[in-house]
Amino acid sequence: MNNIETFERLESNVRMYCRDLPLVFDTAQGSKIRGEDGREYLDFFAGAGALNYGHNDPRMRDALIAYLSANGVTHALDLHTTTKRQFLESLERDLFKPRGWDYKVQFTGPTGADAVEAALKLARKATGRSKIVSFYGAYHGMTAGALAVTGNRTRRGPGLSTDVVFVPYEDSPYGAFDSIGFLERLANDQGSGSELPAAVIVESVQIQAGVYPASNQWLQALRQWTRAHGVLLICDEIQAGCGRTGDFFGFERSGVVPDLITCAKSIGGYGLPMAIVLIGAGLDVWEPGDHIGTFRGNQLAFLTAQIALGYWRDEQFLKLLAANCAAMERAVAGYAEIPGVASARCRGMIAGIDFGRSNVALAKDAQQRVLQAGVLVDRCGPNGEIIKLMPPVNTPTEQLEQGLKAFGEAVAAALG
Ligand code: PMP
Repeated sequence: MNNIETFERLESNVRMYCRDLPLVFDTAQGSKIRGEDGREYLDFFAGAGALNYGHNDPRMRDALIAYLSANGVTHALDLHTTTKRQFLESLERDLFKPRGWDYKVQFTGPTGADAVEAALKLARKATGRSKIVSFYGAYHGMTAGALAVTGNRTRRGPGLSTDVVFVPYEDSPYGAFDSIGFLERLANDQGSGSELPAAVIVESVQIQAGVYPASNQWLQALRQWTRAHGVLLICDEIQAGCGRTGDFFGFERSGVVPDLITCAKSIGGYGLPMAIVLIGAGLDVWEPGDHIGTFRGNQLAFLTAQIALGYWRDEQFLKLLAANCAAMERAVAGYAEIPGVASARCRGMIAGIDFGRSNVALAKDAQQRVLQAGVLVDRCGPNGEIIKLMPPVNTPTEQLEQGLKAFGEAVAAALG
């Protein structure tokens, strides 16, 4: 048995994942994580997107060990360092150049929410406007500004900025709505005093809301609308980015080029904290001191991030990723057929198995059975009624298929 008594005695009792997955883990490699009891689990939770390249990638681990053994700089605040230069060069070579992109990089505090704060603040400064359009169900983080654009009233609580207009997403549990048509009306409103927003902030896949991928068409229409009205488009790729959808960023297939992109979680590549904002041409209106913070960038994450970005030029990695996306899509199509599953949605390496609004208990039960079958999964959606599947994107395909099969069997048993 895992001994969780210390946690219960000394730690605050607000940890949702831990309540759902009451185990103690000690070692992990690739897609596998081992409990103190010696049992191995497939980690299809993957740090909610912070472990897209799995645990302890040997190349990253060895680079870290070598760097530390050579007394590499571990913290330099904003000073120029060799690893930071190498990271910037790698971003340019591996991400920007192949896509023809022209972005500046803003290092923010280490969490995704910090990057969202910076993007909102920059959009307001660049446009001189204050309103932000966000979407029902959106998740952007827990700091005051990021929380103010998070589309979940119970999470938000009182006292936050109300300069936010929430609009339904393309497809969500809140029903279908012509959000682009609504935005068009807002822009043309001369009489009632609606103001144009500084920015629209959008996730290419609303993951915490329950895994709702936006269509290319919808993202394109959003890009068109924002461009037509001088409104900035911020894509929050903190969870959908870094390979989760099968592309580096979830919006890439739409051809949309956002003005600002927020990126965190797997950008560091090893579960190491780092968050950045990519700033489109002409929008870097920061003055020195405008957006500061002690932990901007992370020397160790610069090192592992370069290796992670390098995978995007590695044919073998790209082949594995394509095979894995196909395996996920096949499996998820099968889950949709299980009697009792309300629907199952998939985009690349992210899937949501929806048990229906009033079936939270079933989703919980299924999650426990999946755990017994040796697979860690998280839940999402308004009430936790959707199981979220997020395996590391480079899981060996055979291992992925084994986990997906075990998952399907456990779900069928829970509903049978
Ligand atoms: N945006 C999105 C889309 C996210 O999924 C998250 C984290 N789940 C955040 C922002 C906030 O990131 P962090 O928890 O690192 O602050």
